Amino acid sequence: MANQDENFKKVVSHCKEYGFVFPSSEVYDGLSAVYDYGPYGVELKNNIKKYWWQSMVQMHENIVGLDAAIFMHPKTWKASGHVDAFNDPLIDNKDSKKRYRADVLVEDYMEKVEGKINKEIKKAKKRFGDSFDEKQYRETNPRVVGYLEKNAAIAKRLAEGTLEEIRDLIIELEIACPVSGSKEWTDVRQFNLMFSTQLGTVAGEEGKLYLRPETAQGIFVNFLNVQKTSRQKIPFGIAQIGKAFRNEIVARQFIFRMREFEQMEMQFFVRPGEEMKWYNYWKEARLEWHKAMGSPAEKLRFHDHDKLAHYANAAVDIQFDFPFGFREIEGIHSRTDFDLKQHQELSGRNIQYFDPELQENYVPYVVETSIGCDRMFLAAISNAYTEEMVPDAKGKDSQRIVLKLHPAIAPIKCAVLPLLKNKEELTEKAKAIFNKIKFSFNCQYDEKDAIGRRYRRQDAIGTPYCVTVDFETLEENTVTLRDRDTLEQIRIPIEEIEQHVSKGVDMKNLFLK
Ligand code: ATP
Repeated sequence: MANQDENFKKVVSHCKEYGFVFPSSEVYDGLSAVYDYGPYGVELKNNIKKYWWQSMVQMHENIVGLDAAIFMHPKTWKASGHVDAFNDPLIDNKDSKKRYRADVLVEDYMEKVEGKINKEIKKAKKRFGDSFDEKQYRETNPRVVGYLEKNAAIAKRLAEGTLEEIRDLIIELEIACPVSGSKEWTDVRQFNLMFSTQLGTVAGEEGKLYLRPETAQGIFVNFLNVQKTSRQKIPFGIAQIGKAFRNEIVARQFIFRMREFEQMEMQFFVRPGEEMKWYNYWKEARLEWHKAMGSPAEKLRFHDHDKLAHYANAAVDIQFDFPFGFREIEGIHSRTDFDLKQHQELSGRNIQYFDPELQENYVPYVVETSIGCDRMFLAAISNAYTEEMVPDAKGKDSQRIVLKLHPAIAPIKCAVLPLLKNKEELTEKAKAIFNKIKFSFNCQYDEKDAIGRRYRRQDAIGTPYCVTVDFETLEENTVTLRDRDTLEQIRIPIEEIEQHVSKGVDMKNLFLK
């Protein structure tokens, strides 16, 4: 655990030090659970969004895009259930006066039990060596079986319990406040997560607007507009990337849980009765998307929801092994016809689709894929963050920090570096190369500090290629091209830089996997 905490701290400070993520309004000591993306952060985030968008909209002729407004008619949130049911169970510690999500306190407890299981497995692995069978051990070792049963029982009580029963569970498990260590808890209460604001000209309840807590509803209310204008036939999807806002109580784990964040959502409209087929299709397709971008299979897993939301008949999370353990990164939800029917009822408008093959009108069912862009950013960067020993210019071992991001999402694709700063013929040549290749991809010119240090700086922001301009360049019109991961340097003609780098950083590489 200590090691995990250490790694997480390193990732967070790396994000700050290298201009990926800053606390919002830092000059005023920041705003809790709100963050700003710096020069490299915005590039990485844009690339993640581009990869998602292209994989949805460009790669599927039956998925189209939308960019709906953040503000929506207040009835939207009544219809969607967010006014009445978008609540978190909260509990206060009487001594520290700190407020927590009751379910998160219990989940943290379960995680500690999970930690004990992992410890047992690690020990056994060491003891049994190659002959160790983890599955069998999990099923037969009495201590591990005991822990697993304990967690399963807690999960069931958490999923099915009333607010009072969840409080009883916290007392029974002797969960203490992480701040004060006290076990004096208040009752559990519900708290609505939507931020509200006021429309300028209308006073009172009438003018009360919400900042959308999910982007999905903008898609639902536009269903017929989009279907008719894009002339799509079911099954088809609508994709959208945009900000969402939630008044989260547990503000921690950096950009994992924010109050203002970005979602990439796709709602896929299908015939009633065909939703499970599409649910399974999107489950697998989305997992492949994560793997193609470089998340290793062992860091990804499915987690079925124990408790279904009011609109869903099936739901699964894709969890990623963050530095603080496996957590949700994306949800795939079979939302039935709940949302469209609700909007139909509250608006009084007909939101039906005429199926030309069936010669029938119906309200389509919906399968949703919903991924948090910020969580994906955190997953990508924490997976890419690597400390390793490599030979330096003199062949001696030295430590480097490198972000092994997939080249297609790396913020800067190629750095152009004159070998020496104060040799005008080198800097002029390097600048000319930079000005030539900058039209093809994001590059950076850097002449400050010794070449070794400049390589390290590019490694730390994940730049896949460095072009170095030396004296041979002036005579032969060739440069060295250094590969971030292999550290291999090859000599290539200047005219081939663009082709070489473009090939390596092409987003196509992600789709053709
Ligand atoms: P959690 O259980 O972690 O609160 P959720 O189940 O409420 O998440 P969804 O409503 O399914 O999340 O939202 C879809 C996706 O949006 C999530 O998988 C996550 O990646 C992202 N997301 C949700 N809430 C936040 C948040 N507060 N900060 C950053 N990303 C978020």
